[in-house]
Amino acid sequence: MRKPKILVLATGGTIAGSAASPENVTGYQAGVIGIDELLSAVPEIRDFAGVRSEQLCNIDSKDMTDEILIRLTARVNEIAAKNEADGVVITHGTDTMEETAFFLSLTVKTEKPVVMTGAMLPATAKNADGPRNLFDAVCVAACPESSGKGVLVVMNGKIFAAKEVTKTHTTKIDAFAAPDSGPLGHVDDNGVAFERTPNLPRLHFPADSPLPRVDILYGHEGDDGALVEAALHAGAKGIVYAGMGNGNIPAKAEKALAKASEKGIVVVRASRSNSGPVVPADPSYAAAGFIDSGMLNPQKARVLLRLALGQTGNREEVRRIFENL
Ligand code: ASP
Repeated sequence: MRKPKILVLATGGTIAGSAASPENVTGYQAGVIGIDELLSAVPEIRDFAGVRSEQLCNIDSKDMTDEILIRLTARVNEIAAKNEADGVVITHGTDTMEETAFFLSLTVKTEKPVVMTGAMLPATAKNADGPRNLFDAVCVAACPESSGKGVLVVMNGKIFAAKEVTKTHTTKIDAFAAPDSGPLGHVDDNGVAFERTPNLPRLHFPADSPLPRVDILYGHEGDDGALVEAALHAGAKGIVYAGMGNGNIPAKAEKALAKASEKGIVVVRASRSNSGPVVPADPSYAAAGFIDSGMLNPQKARVLLRLALGQTGNREEVRRIFENL
């Protein structure tokens, strides 16, 4: 039987990280080791998949750029269009994996499995989790059942949907969760098992969409809204406010945001709580034209707002995009 062809696109992260000693698990440099070396640590992959790899970049994911994001999307779309592989695996730092995964889920057009993975411990650690995660990600990408499920994230034996997953721990190996829905499935010695199908984004944006500046402002006691002005000064076309609870905003910050909204800046209310939706609350928010982030956390609301503002400057159209996601 023909082995599935899997293309691994490497971008860096702790999975490609190197520390001075095998005991070192936090003091290391991410994005150092090349993908061929990482794949050579898991030769068993070749038993069930024909694997090729490409090094797109080798960075710490906190330094992800628009240029790399757009190149990554374009490459995945090209692989799909030219039928270069049956599935794609993307290695990525865990810090911003959820943002890249969500971006890809809105810009990549394919039924083929697209699976992201990374690691919490550097490749040089004696109990490194990267090899297992890479093995699992290739298993998921090679599995016919993974087709049509959108962009997936595979970490620590769990399979997540791009729209739902978030990093919930700073250092533990079990750092990823989908707080409102749980994982889509699991991958272990028995293979790949999906327990449910994801709620896929209904929207698609062009891969080369312009990406206007959107800033996230983090709500806190005593916020006087001074940073709203700073965001506008820096050229923000949109602001995501990570409010308290159900996207609540302190009165002074609300006033500053309402003023920005009057000037045409699109304001989205998200929440600094890490689960649950942001739904209509104080009528003054609706009166000021603020948009509710729904199930999107602030960093994902920022991704969608940038893509939306790349298509339209019309606030009501942006609102429809958020409502129809
Ligand atoms: N700072 C690293 C990164 O995101 C963390 C990791 O990959 O776990 O690239």
